[in-house]
Amino acid sequence: MTSNPNSLAARDVASLIHPYTNLEKHKEAGPTIIAQGDGVYVHDDSGKRYLEGMAGLWSTSLGFSEKRLVEAAVRQMEKLPTYHIFNGRSTEPSIELAEALLKIAPKSLSKVLFANSGSEANDQAAKLVWFYNNALGRPEKKRIIGRHRGYHGITVFSGSLTGLAHNHVDWDLPMGPVLRTDCPSHYLYGEPGETEAQFTDRLVKNLEDLILREGPETIGAFIAEPVNGAGGVIVPPKDYFPRIQAVLRKYEILMIADEVICGFGRTGQMFGCDTFGIEPDIMTVAKALSSAYLPISATLISAPIAEAITAHAGKLGNFAHGFTYAGHPVSSAVALETLKIYEERDIIGHVAEVSAHFQAKLRSFLDHPLVGEARGVGLIGALQLVTDKASRTVLPAAAGIGALIQNAAMEKGLIVRASPDAVYFCPPLIITRAQVDELFAVVAEVLDIGL
Ligand code: PLP
Repeated sequence: MTSNPNSLAARDVASLIHPYTNLEKHKEAGPTIIAQGDGVYVHDDSGKRYLEGMAGLWSTSLGFSEKRLVEAAVRQMEKLPTYHIFNGRSTEPSIELAEALLKIAPKSLSKVLFANSGSEANDQAAKLVWFYNNALGRPEKKRIIGRHRGYHGITVFSGSLTGLAHNHVDWDLPMGPVLRTDCPSHYLYGEPGETEAQFTDRLVKNLEDLILREGPETIGAFIAEPVNGAGGVIVPPKDYFPRIQAVLRKYEILMIADEVICGFGRTGQMFGCDTFGIEPDIMTVAKALSSAYLPISATLISAPIAEAITAHAGKLGNFAHGFTYAGHPVSSAVALETLKIYEERDIIGHVAEVSAHFQAKLRSFLDHPLVGEARGVGLIGALQLVTDKASRTVLPAAAGIGALIQNAAMEKGLIVRASPDAVYFCPPLIITRAQVDELFAVVAEVLDIGL
């Protein structure tokens, strides 16, 4: 693949470091070069077609050939291709997008700060927690509780919030301001004989114990994805979030909902917060905000936070924070068009309809000897791979079966994501019932490879 030095593959190996890639193996294997998109499918540079069962990186909600988004970008490019919103300047698309977001967001939220990626939106959320508590004269109240298996990004601080071991090995991320609590997977972490309700009781108690042990006066916020994505597509027990939130409120700890994957219909409602009963003080969104056609993200904050930071910044003379590309007019115009399409085509209604079929198909794999749990909600799901169903013994990472399944699916024209012990699905929201069948038909063919 990489033997011809002028091939794209060889040039890739010679010039690029790839995220989340085994760089040694990549030297030999080279890249799969994706050249074109068409609805829920992408094509590589040899013309081979793949059903994109992960919507890219959990992101391309409207598929890979939505003309209206291209046209929105071109229109804005021709009118005003770039500008910023520093120093009191603004642009029409950034204003309209902020308004459109607040219209659909949970009612607790009242102002928007833009950024460019999920990581930046979460970094920004953490900085706002710190600035807010300084504004309130409680400089000790700064630590942020994340969860095991949480994924919040990869920058210096969003990486610290991320609770996945492999993102920490040898990266020396600053952990001082971070505390960690449980992952809410009853299947993976429930004790033998423990019901889901008892499991939730235990997690709620563990959180409160942690807060009391560390001192509530030192803890500013808690961050969680409504459904953990990269950490395993973990769907929490039904009353987990309302009960966690009751504890947080008791100790004046802010709730940050990371909706970078769940936002905009993925869970069957507009936000994961709606599906799981979360009332966020801060919410971060990215990915499906623009169907990932251009980089854009946002951090939404409640009125009390907005008022406190505005007054504090006034006292200091400046709100000394912001990214050059925050509220970029072209990204904003594309995001605005994305939100219009969600509404006009009733994407949420479509997800509600097709997801019943998707979830039923997913659960049909429970019969397979390798599948311990089939979990999911809306159009996101995972198959948990086990060596022993009765004891819930998870497939060991060293077995490499996840990678085998992922590669076999790719051979057969399906892109899914596999961790060592699970296979994930997160297709574009526009997927049809027939395409859901096509997706799971390939899964049925390749799962046996793990036996
Ligand atoms: N938060 C969640 C829940 C994510 O899944 C991701 C990325 O996958 C991020 C944050 C980070 O987003 P980005 O890769 O755009 O920085």
